[in-house]
Parts: sequence; C-alpha cells; structure tokens
Amino acid sequence: MTSPLTVRQESELLAGSASAIALADSVIAGLGLPADGIPVHDPATGQRIASVPDVSAAGAVAELAIADAAGAAWARTTARHRASLLSRWYELIVEHTEEIAHLITREMGKTLAEARGEVKYGSDFVRLYAEEAVRPGGGFRDVPDGGSSLLIKRSPVGLAVLITPWNFPLAMATRKIAPALAAGCPVVVKPATLTPLTTYFVVELARRAGIPAELVRVVTTSNAGDFSDAVLRDPRTRKVSFTGSTPVGKQLLRIASDGVLRTSMELGGNGPLLVFDDADLERAVDGVFAAKLRNGGQSCIAANRIYVQDGIADAFVEAFAERLSASPVGNGFGEGVAVGPLIDERAVREMRALTDEAIADGAELRTGGATYEGPGQFFAPTVLDRVPAESRVANVEIFGPIAAIQRFSSEEEGIARANDTEFGLAGYVFTENLDRALNVADALETGLVGINQGVPSNAAAPFGGVKQSGLGREGSAEGLEEYQNVRFYNVARR
Ligand code: NAD
Repeated sequence: MTSPLTVRQESELLAGSASAIALADSVIAGLGLPADGIPVHDPATGQRIASVPDVSAAGAVAELAIADAAGAAWARTTARHRASLLSRWYELIVEHTEEIAHLITREMGKTLAEARGEVKYGSDFVRLYAEEAVRPGGGFRDVPDGGSSLLIKRSPVGLAVLITPWNFPLAMATRKIAPALAAGCPVVVKPATLTPLTTYFVVELARRAGIPAELVRVVTTSNAGDFSDAVLRDPRTRKVSFTGSTPVGKQLLRIASDGVLRTSMELGGNGPLLVFDDADLERAVDGVFAAKLRNGGQSCIAANRIYVQDGIADAFVEAFAERLSASPVGNGFGEGVAVGPLIDERAVREMRALTDEAIADGAELRTGGATYEGPGQFFAPTVLDRVPAESRVANVEIFGPIAAIQRFSSEEEGIARANDTEFGLAGYVFTENLDRALNVADALETGLVGINQGVPSNAAAPFGGVKQSGLGREGSAEGLEEYQNVRFYNVARR
C-alpha cells in the first residue's frame, strides 16, 4: 500500500445520532454561557457548539481571591462534612451519567461508550476521596530518647491551582478537584479551552451537592501564559497541579520555583509495549488494541512504541492489522463507531506527516494511513510494521491512532529499547510467563505497568510518571497527600 490516501466518509457514521446530539446541546444550553468568547467546536463536525468566557489575568486573580476567602472556613470543616458533600457530588455525577457522557462526546469526540466509561472512571475519584477524607492521616509517637512525644498532623496545603488537558475532560478535573476538596483546599481550575464544557457542568453539580460555589472557581482563558504568570505568582497560591505536555510542565515548574509551590506534574508519555513470543495472541491483540486505540490514541498512557518479539511478530501484526481495519471510524455518536475524530486539524496533519515519513523511512503500512474527505478531523487506525528506530513516529508522543511496530529478539534488547527515552509514564508487558512479566515490569523505567492488559488506570491506583513524565501521584491515598502538609508538634513530657 502507498500513501497518501483519502477516503470518503460513510455519511451515517459521520453524522452520528441527531437525538444524541440534541441531548448534548440541551446540556450546553443549560450552562448559561455567554454568546461571545472563546469558541468551542465539535471535532467530529467542525460545528461551533458554544463559547466560554475569555477571562483576563486580572479576572483570574479575582476568582482566586473568591476561592481563597472561602478556604479558611472550608479547612475548618470536619472531614465527615467534606466527605458527605463529596458523596453527594458523586451521586449527582452518577445520576447525570448520560448528560455528562453526551457532553464529553460532543466537545471532545470520543465514542459515547468511551465517554460513559470516562464518567465511571472520573466519578470513581470523587467517591474514593469521599472515603479517603475520613481516614485519619496523622500519627503519634514517642521520641526514642524519651522526654517528649510527637503529634503528627496533616493540614491542607492551601489554595490549589488545577490545570487540565482536553483528552479526558471529566476525569482529569475530578482527579484533582476531589482530593483538593477532601484535604480542605479551595481551588481554581483551568480546563483546556478545547474542552471546557464538561468542567463547567460537573462543577455546577458540585454546587448542587452543597459544595460552596466560592470554593471551586472555573477560569477559561485564551492566554494560558498570562494566567499562570498571574495566578501562580500570587502569594495566596500554595499548590499547582498540572496535567499536560512536558514543555508546559517545565515552564510551570520554573514559575512555581519562585514561590516554592507544592507541585504535581502529570506530563507527557512515550509508552513502550512489549509483546513476547510466549504471549497469548488473542489477549495481546485485545490488550494492545485498548492500549493504543483507547480515546483514539489520545491518551498520555497510550502504547506509543510497540515492540513485538520475532517469533510472534508476523502472527501478531496480521491479527492486529485485521482488528484495526475492522474498526469503524466516525462521529462518536455513530452506532458501532470504534474510533472517533482527533481533537483538531493540527493532529490530523501530524498523523499524516508521521505516517508518510515512516513509510519513506522504510516502514511497511499494513492498514489505515488514510485521511477523510468532508468536515471533521478523522484519521484511520493505522498499523506500521518494521518501523526503523530512528523514524520520528518511533520517538515522539504520537497522540493518535497509529500503531508503530518494531521487532526485537531478546528480553534484554526489548527492555533496553523500551527504556531508551526521557519519558517514563506507562509501560506494558504481554507474556504468559509470570516471572518474565514481573522481571520485565521491574526493569521498565515507568510509573505504571500494564501486565497482559491495556487499561491499567484505576482511581485506587497511585497514577504518575518517573523521569520527564512527571512528579507526584493522582488517585489513591497518595493522591490526597499531594494536597496536605505534614506537620508535627513536639510535646514535652515530665
Ligand atoms: P498542553 O500542555 O498543551 O495543555 C494542557 C493544559 O495546559 C491546557 O489547559 C492548556 O491550556 C494549558 N496550558 C498551556 N500552556 C500553558 C501555560 N503557559 N500556563 C498554564 N497553562 C497552560 O497539553 P495538551 O495538548 O492539552 O495535552 C496533551 C499532553 O498532555 C500530552 O503530552 C499528554 O501526554 C499529556 N497528558 C498527560 C497526562 C498524565 O496524567 N501524565 C494525562 C493526560 C494528558
């Protein structure tokens, strides 16, 4: 096969379901957003679906002041009180699953089934932090030489600025807002301007749950640089939690260093995935499909570099390419659609370029590689086999539906190539040999490893990266500690 290719979209898949779109639009109408502001588009149709306020740096600081003023009273509430409000918020999110899922599909493009999955995943953080809020985090110990005792306490860090990306509009917000509130912190949350609507809706549900409106302030702006300069340098800010690309994370770390802010950085990935000769083929195809194609490949933990051992490579590539070529591309609201649109035109151009360059470098196109005529931003699920290690697609974070497959012969070689990157978020291992699975997982320089499965995330897991993929953890009890200061009182004893 050669490239480039352009294929005609099948109109039904492209159109999606009119009633589903109407449901999403009725939720948007209820948000009470201004007619003018930053436009928000549906990536499947290109339609403008809303606008959100373009808040200036001064406006953002005014929002910060509102949150800060509410913070002291919130910090004094009992953990039980905070937990019960978070529980109520969780219940409201679950009750509104359909509205939220439709909103996610409309603004971000993922399939409705995946959007429902995100509501489950995103709401799990709210429930988990309702549960974690009431677990005592402090301690008591006598000093070894006697004469005094230590009372160890956890207190809220203070005002937290939360900056989220566009790829998981609900989950990236709840996994920051819920632990911050559970710990007793007020927050300013800045969603990505590509997908801000879900954040507005879920924060409105927090309000309906009884969480004071002043505590959680949403700020949208077209000038993220001015926003972070003003808000992170404000002395009232004590913490910044960011999910996004590594270059922006580094910029924020520099600003945060001036105020010695607590930071959590969930940054880019370049996830290696290893399929060994002794893997179960069907399980590997399912797992790699999920690790690669979930969210259309637009996930920080997506399998980015797929290494397949020589003995299984031909069979794997054939089965995997067949699976991808049978995955319909279309509007996330379309019946049977497996892969939705990419977030913007730039992403489609990048998929086109990565594919064309890889083929020119000597990779074999096994399926896909096509762009689509008509509105919306689509790219076909693509399998490139025998990708040369130096090809750009084998080195950058792809963030789209291209599976770049390389082959390897020994375990040592596979591990060395997997670790040959400055990133370290997710890694994957497929093998039926338990010793090998655990040994390879131990050797991977990543914050998390999926073993024989492609979807390792869970609200109960301490998610985060090593190397240039980030600092800090989200989810689980560790995620709560990110919003707490540890202090001690040394009490003299007679
Ligand atoms: P991005 O870094 O461009 O933007 C992320 C957010 O930061 C957006 O809200 C954006 O408006 C904001 N932003 C951009 N410049 C800013 C600045 N100077 N000051 C303050 N805010 C600023 O990333 P993206 O394209 O939205 O998301 C994709 C990237 O995010 C990928 O690299 C992906 O790996 C990463 N990501 C990481 C995780 C994780 O948990 N590690 C999760 C999802 C996405």
